[in-house]
Amino acid sequence: MSRVALPAGIQVLERGWLSANNVVLTEGGGAVVVDSGHCHHAEQTVDLLRDALDGATLDEVVCTHGHVDHMGGNARLQAVFGCPVAVPEGLFERVNRWDEEALLLRATDQQGDRFTAARAVRAGERRAMGGYEWVALPAPGHDMDALVFHAPDARVLISGDALWRDGFGILFVELYGEGGGIEATRQTLEAIARLPVDLVIPGHGAPFVEVDEALEAAFARLRAFEEDGARIARNGIRALFAFRLMEQRAFTLDDLPDYLDRVPIYREANRRFLGLSPDALASWLQADLVRAGVARREGDLLHAT
Ligand SMILES: [Zn+2]
Repeated sequence: MSRVALPAGIQVLERGWLSANNVVLTEGGGAVVVDSGHCHHAEQTVDLLRDALDGATLDEVVCTHGHVDHMGGNARLQAVFGCPVAVPEGLFERVNRWDEEALLLRATDQQGDRFTAARAVRAGERRAMGGYEWVALPAPGHDMDALVFHAPDARVLISGDALWRDGFGILFVELYGEGGGIEATRQTLEAIARLPVDLVIPGHGAPFVEVDEALEAAFARLRAFEEDGARIARNGIRALFAFRLMEQRAFTLDDLPDYLDRVPIYREANRRFLGLSPDALASWLQADLVRAGVARREGDLLHAT
């Protein structure tokens, strides 16, 4: 994929899958960063940001949504830069109570560094960042409280995990919550398709200009999910466990069946869509991750590649 030119005032610190991209929007001596990465990478995020800021003051950290790979660096950035953090309105109370159940930390067996949100970003809110006016738009689906940020004049969209070059983030609400994720995602994608956008800055992967192709791929994935619910579960379990493997680098294979049966989101997704025994789920998962090149087996360990 070719690198695309970014408008002046916009820098994208492209990270891997464990940490979401950080979008640095600078104007004059001030800057805002959208999404802060994973807590395991917090020091790296601080270093990258210092470079990108180049002496500018970090005025605020804004999060597109409430997942550990997007808001995991908030606590550290708050401590180092002394800046306030803003989160989507729907997450504000949950974050400030640090409700590990509602933030899905417990259900997904993930860790996040607790931070305090100073401000709630409302859908429809307009704000100047990096020399452009951005509108916060609701983007439910992957996270029902997610926002995306659209700059109509620059025709840029910061999409978080609502739209990637090849798909979108796990539909948690289908795996573990009350459902409605497919319909919400469709409405979000349709809303994005109506926006004037030439450049998408996704939460993961390089910024891209193939907006129509990306939307087509996302709609196709959504149709596949709709036709076969098991795909939602297989996709979600695979992505979430690959993420887990990236966090801890290696996993003892003997522990995998019990782990998948103990961590609520895997157990529930399996119960709802697959109906496999823990052993069968574990052997499918490890074979699938190895086949996809995401993991390799070494003795009784599964390693992230
Ligand atoms: Zn996410």
